[in-house]
Formats: sequence, structure tokens, C-alpha cells
Amino acid sequence: MSGFRIDLVSDTSSKPTAEMRQAMANADVGDEQRGEDPSVNALCDRIADLMGKEAALFLPSGTMCNLVAILVHCRHGDEIIAADGSHIIGAEGAGAAAFAGSFIKSLDAPRGIFTGADVEAAVRARRPKSPRSSLLEVEQTNNRGGGAVWPLDAIQEVAAAARKHDLAVHMDGARLLNAVVASGVSAADFSAPFDSAWLDLSKGLGCPFGGVLAGSKDFIGEAEIWKHRLGGAMRQGGVMAAAGIYALDNLVDRLADDHENAKTLANEIAEIPGLKLSRAPVETNLVFFDVSGTGLTAQQIHERLAEQDIRIGVDGPMEMRAVTHIDISAADITDALSALRSVVA
Ligand SMILES: *Cc1c(COP(=O)(O)O)cnc(C)c1O
Repeated sequence: MSGFRIDLVSDTSSKPTAEMRQAMANADVGDEQRGEDPSVNALCDRIADLMGKEAALFLPSGTMCNLVAILVHCRHGDEIIAADGSHIIGAEGAGAAAFAGSFIKSLDAPRGIFTGADVEAAVRARRPKSPRSSLLEVEQTNNRGGGAVWPLDAIQEVAAAARKHDLAVHMDGARLLNAVVASGVSAADFSAPFDSAWLDLSKGLGCPFGGVLAGSKDFIGEAEIWKHRLGGAMRQGGVMAAAGIYALDNLVDRLADDHENAKTLANEIAEIPGLKLSRAPVETNLVFFDVSGTGLTAQQIHERLAEQDIRIGVDGPMEMRAVTHIDISAADITDALSALRSVVA
């Protein structure tokens, strides 16, 4: 137990449901490392299909999906282009540098969304003294951008700009299905401009762990080698893959409820004196707000909410982040709001 009655710290705090656990218990399994786990194979086929790619690879985490993709696309001394605040920049232990010897040039993009012209300006001339620009990364939805959804045409534009200069293009789709549900654009359309793309099972889909990386057969062939090298090849991984299949069958449409709850939360927060939405508008399940008008710090508010068994994340001295997910009901939002009102009153 996380210990909180209402835990809005992340969509990763969601617990597998009873039905998901049942699906895991009943999973057909085999030795995944030998390619013999039917549930893992079925999950990969499902995701490849969903994302419109030739093949897919089940990995223990989204972080490993990004790292494996970077290892396939980049060599030592290469440069990756990504929005400032990207997960690969701030939240993956600098894996790109530590393992791929690549560094990341960040683009100033307030909601994590940049343009083809920004990419053109960031790509370096090919000459011996410059780092080689080799990969463009896009995060859909954009986490630090407040859960912003990249419009399809914006994605196509930046991918085309990158390709023009022979960069590979990769999508961190940790919350891709949130973008799909919010926009009505298919996962395959959002993934089409990319050489590689993945989605996370352990965020809004509520699985215990895992991410699935998709791409061409050649790309996935290379990715499989890195998976093994990094120790990510599992055995009876089907127990986990079954959770993913269950989620794809049953828990995608309900992401709309998370978005609805996030919007209610955001609209009400905007009315509370001293609080201000900081990365609005809220399009999906992430709500960031600034507390500097309350006379309290984010940490103080966090602690006072915790006394009421409610957790909202501290995202900076004066900023907080609340994330809706499968274990948060509309009634929980009402309760969290009344607690928040009383704490900052
Ligand atoms: C959570 C997250 C990841 C990493 O996924 P894990 O499964 O937690 O390793 C990568 N990118 C974004 C945008 C995320 O939110």
C-alpha cells in the first residue's frame, strides 16, 4: 500500500485490478528469452498492430524502451534533440550519456511542443568538429508540458524536418494512449512518422510494469540485442504481458474518465484563492499548479494533505502536480479538492 487514501502523486501509483490479477494468474507462459512465451508474443503482436509497426519488443520499463531505442539509433559522440524537460533529459539517470555516449540538446518549448523550424535550427552542420545530430525525440503526451497532446500535423512537421537531415525519429509514448483518447487520432497515425515508438503499460493502463517498443523488423532485431545486453530479457514474462493484454482489452476507453477528473480538478483549482494552474490547459491526466499565492510552500501543502491521507506531488518549491488514474474516482476528486481548499484557506 502506498498508504494514501487518495494518491494523486502519479498514474504509476495505480494498482492492478482484481480482474487484471486474474488475467495474470491465468496467463499462458513460456521462456520469453527463447521467444517461447505466448503471452509476451501476443502482447507484442497487439502493440505492433496498434502502432502500425512491423514488430514490437516487451521491455521491463519505459525507461529501458527509451534507452534501447537510443542505443540502436545513436553512436558515441552523437547528439539527440529533445524538448527541455523531456523525461530522457531529467528522469532517466542520464542513460543516453552513461550508455550511449550521447548527449541531448534541449529545445526551449514551454508545453514540450516545438516546430520544424526549431528542429532545423538545432541540427548541426556535418563537420568533424561538431557533434553529429542523430536523433530527434518527441514525448507524447508531454509530461512536463502539463500532459499536452502533440497535434498530428505538428508531429509530422518535426519528423519531416529531422528526416531531411538524416536524423532518426523516436517517440516516447509513455502516455500515447492518453493522447489517442483525448484527440481521437489513432496510435498508428501518431506513430507513423517515427522509426521507433513505445507506450507504457504501467501509467494509465494500470499494469505493474512494462513498456512495449515498436518499429521495423530491423530496428526491433537490433533492439532485442540491447534488451539482452542490458539484462532486460525475461523468462515467464507472460505473467506481466497478460496484464498488458487485459489493459488493452478493457482499460483504454476509461482513460477518458481520468481526463474528465483531471479537468474537474483543474477547473476547481483555478477557483481556489492563491492557487493558479501553471501548465494549462489540461488536456489529459496531468494537472500542474502554482501555490505561491497561498503563503505556503508546495512541501507544506503536501505535508498537510498527507495528514488527511491525500498525496499530491511536489514539483518545485512553489509547484505541485496531481495525476489522475484508474484508482481515482470523481468522489476522490471532490474529497481532494475540499482538503486542498481547507489546507490553503
Ligand atoms: C514514466 C515515463 C517514462 C519512463 O517509464 P517507466 O516505465 O517509469 O520507466 C518515460 N517517459 C515519460 C514521459 C514518462 O512519463
